[in-house]
Amino acid sequence: MPATKEYWPLVLETIKNKISTSSYKAWFSRLEFISTGNQGRKIIISVPSAFNKQYIESKFHDELKDAIGKYYPQVIHIDYQVKQGVEEVSRNTQIELPIDTSSQFVNRTEQHEPVSLSSYLPKKSLNNLNPKYTFDNFVITKNNELAVSVSQSIVKQPGTIYNPLFIYGSVGLGKTHLIQAIGQKMLENYPSYNIKYIASETFVNQFILAFQKRKMDEFRDYYRSVDLLLIDDIQFIAGKEATQEVFFHTFNELHQLNKQIILTSDRAPKALGGIEERLISRFEWGMVVDISKPDLEARIAILKDKSERLGIDLTAFQLNKISNAIDSNIRELEGLLNKLKAKAQISMQQNFDDSEIDQILNQYQNQSPIKITMSSSSVTTDKVIDAACKLFSISKTDMIGSCREKNISLARQIAFWYCKNELEFSYPVIGKIFGGRDHSTIIHGCTKVDKLLKTDLKTQNKLQLLKELLSQM
Ligand code: ADP
Ligand code: MG
Repeated sequence: MPATKEYWPLVLETIKNKISTSSYKAWFSRLEFISTGNQGRKIIISVPSAFNKQYIESKFHDELKDAIGKYYPQVIHIDYQVKQGVEEVSRNTQIELPIDTSSQFVNRTEQHEPVSLSSYLPKKSLNNLNPKYTFDNFVITKNNELAVSVSQSIVKQPGTIYNPLFIYGSVGLGKTHLIQAIGQKMLENYPSYNIKYIASETFVNQFILAFQKRKMDEFRDYYRSVDLLLIDDIQFIAGKEATQEVFFHTFNELHQLNKQIILTSDRAPKALGGIEERLISRFEWGMVVDISKPDLEARIAILKDKSERLGIDLTAFQLNKISNAIDSNIRELEGLLNKLKAKAQISMQQNFDDSEIDQILNQYQNQSPIKITMSSSSVTTDKVIDAACKLFSISKTDMIGSCREKNISLARQIAFWYCKNELEFSYPVIGKIFGGRDHSTIIHGCTKVDKLLKTDLKTQNKLQLLKELLSQM
């Protein structure tokens, strides 16, 4: 019933203006209109999970009812269709819990049978450390030397000098490697220590499940008893208010007990949007260090070390050539090395002609970043580009090119926005995908779309249509 569907974006817009942006994003952004029924007296909405539905009903029922009433005045009943089971919540990091985590709320809501905590919190003895990441195989360069030296001091005197340590830098530059190395070394020095490495997204998911299963006390105790807490990619708790609340208390308790906390992030504390000020200020209490992009000299040093460890002999010329060609991050250098390793295994030799290196470099560079596929979803950036081209009737060349015609610019900016907000690509990566644009251009585009989405119906509809197109691709 297309005519009735048309009002749905307006309902969402009304809600968006009434509640916080983070709540809107967490609970309403993925609600979809399915149909109306019973002579318009019923509206059927698709929700991503049973938990989402439960939460809306308990916290935002009035807002939803009022907004629907405004555009669908006959509706007296709201029906939800759940897209995925509650169990899938753990894989869904968008979903966020209420700040109100009191037992009162828990009792008001229908809960599932309490299950053993061990089903989603790893055993206490499990630290999630990966033996592959050590100080020994971490190459010290100008770009990471401060971070390494601070890390090493922490290992000698945990919990006292730099607490917390906050390491930031863009993707693939060694943040995870470094904090894992701290964990390994601490384990070696203090075998009885309770060490936990955790990605912040996992922390969020564990918290959601603890909450659902009414195991909040156990969840708190689990993290309170940690001697060294390593939280990777803390930026993902942005907008997740309830997690931030719980993390804030965990942080304070550990800090008071002089337990060492180490955090990583893709940006500096001050640049973290969607995270409470009181947390940001705590992130800055101890030591903040960055790992910057490696320069040529650093890339050569890392490549040399890694190739030697793999038993590959590269000449100085070859080291130079590769390091000149691959300048984004170390993960990419490793990708190329793995290709070399495979080739060396096939040909059973350790060295390469310069022409072979050229050939592998060419092959490597011709792999378009557009082919990157997100593990969590089947939507890829090339699908986004295709769909946006279709929607705006423009060609792929227009999309990637530099034409500033209004329709083309908007198509491009909506595609940027989707890649950022739905696929969670970083601004620099999006820039690379869209023809090597600077990250500031992408930020500008996304901000513009954010603004338009607040007021402009046409843009809202385009985005909605883009989502629909993508869901059919
Ligand atoms: P980030 O967490 O910053 O995205 P990672 O720690 O996952 O980056 O690093 C990406 C890859 O590059 C890893 O395999 C890591 O071992 C390697 N790496 C990064 N920096 C260094 C370094 N200085 N020396 C050796 N390997 C490194
Ligand atoms: Mg990492």
